Amino acid sequence: MSELHKFIFDGLPVRGSIVRLTDAWTDILARRDANQATGAWPPPVAELLGEMAAAGVLMQSNIKFNGALVLQIYGSGPVKVAVAEVQHDLSLRATAKVVGEVDANARLSDLVNVGNKGRCAITLDPKDRFPGQQPYQGVVPLHGDHREKIENISEVLQHYMLQSEQLDTTLVLAADSKVAAGLLIQRLPLEGEGNLAGSRTAGPPQGAGAPSVGSAAPPGAQRGGPSFFSKANEDEIGLNEDYNRIAILASSLKREELLELDVDTILHRLFWQEKLLRFEPQTPQFACTCSRDRVARMIRGLGQDEAQSILAERGEIEVGCEFCGQQYRFDAVDATQIFTSPGDQPPVSPTVQ
Ligand SMILES: [Zn+2]
Repeated sequence: MSELHKFIFDGLPVRGSIVRLTDAWTDILARRDANQATGAWPPPVAELLGEMAAAGVLMQSNIKFNGALVLQIYGSGPVKVAVAEVQHDLSLRATAKVVGEVDANARLSDLVNVGNKGRCAITLDPKDRFPGQQPYQGVVPLHGDHREKIENISEVLQHYMLQSEQLDTTLVLAADSKVAAGLLIQRLPLEGEGNLAGSRTAGPPQGAGAPSVGSAAPPGAQRGGPSFFSKANEDEIGLNEDYNRIAILASSLKREELLELDVDTILHRLFWQEKLLRFEPQTPQFACTCSRDRVARMIRGLGQDEAQSILAERGEIEVGCEFCGQQYRFDAVDATQIFTSPGDQPPVSPTVQ
C-alpha cells in the first residue's frame, strides 16, 4: 500500500516527510498501458511523472490548505505537458502528453526543455473557491541562475521553495515502473507564526490570503515553546547547522535505496543519530476527479457551433479522460441538453481533452 510518513526532528527547526507510492503509482501506469490510443509512457517520461507525483504528495502534505496542489511542467520537446495533481486527502492523479519519439536515455531537458524555455508551475486551487477567486500559482524555469539547464525536477522544486516560500528544502525523488518515492527535508521558519506573517506580506508573488506551501507548523508544534521555535535570531546559526547536517544526510540517500528500502529502514539508515518524532502515516491513493458533468461543461465551453460540427462529422462527441482513461460519449440529444440547460462556466482545467 502507498504510504506517507511525516516527522519532525525533536528540538530542531527541521521537519521531514517521506512518501512511497506503490499501488497508487502502478494504478496510474496500468491505466495508461490500457489506453489503446496512446500505449504506455516511454520509461523516461514515466520516471519524470512518478517523481512529480511523489513531490506533489510531499508538498501537499506540508500545507494547511483544502484544495488541489498541481505540478505542471511544459516547454519544448516530446513531452508537451506533464501534470501531477494531489488533493487535500492525498488522492492523486497524473498524466503526460507525449508527441514523437523519446530516447531511452532522455534527460529532463531532452523531454521538455529543448529550447531552455521550459517551466514548472505550482498551482494551489482551493476546493471551494469564492466568486472571482483565482488559484494561486507560482512559476519557475527549468534552468538555473546562469541559464544552465536543470536535469532534476527535485532541484527545480527546491529552487521554487526557496525563492517563493523562503524555505530551505532538500528533496530526493526517484521512480521506476513499480514505485514512485520521495524524501523532503525542510527548515522551519525560526520565529514561528510571527516570522511567517512577515515573510508572507513582504514576499512576492503571494497574493492576499494565498496559502503558502510548506508554511504550516506541524501538528503538535509548540508555538513559542522553548525548543521548537527560537525567540531570537541569536540561535539562527546553530539551527542552520542542524538543518545543514540533516540535509546532507538526506542528500546521501541513493535512488536505489529510496526505491527498494522500506520507510523505517531508510529513516534509520539516514537519521539513526537524530531523535525523530513521527506522525501517524497516511495513505495516498489514485483517484480521478473527472465526471460526466465536468465533461459536459467543457463541451459547453467549446460552443454550440463547434459541438454541432463534431456531431455532424462523427455522429457523437467522444471525450477521453487523459488521467484515468474513462470515455465519455455525447450524442445529439445529450448535446442539445448541454446547450439548453442552464449551467456555470466551463472548468479552467486544461487536462481533459
Ligand atoms: Zn478521469
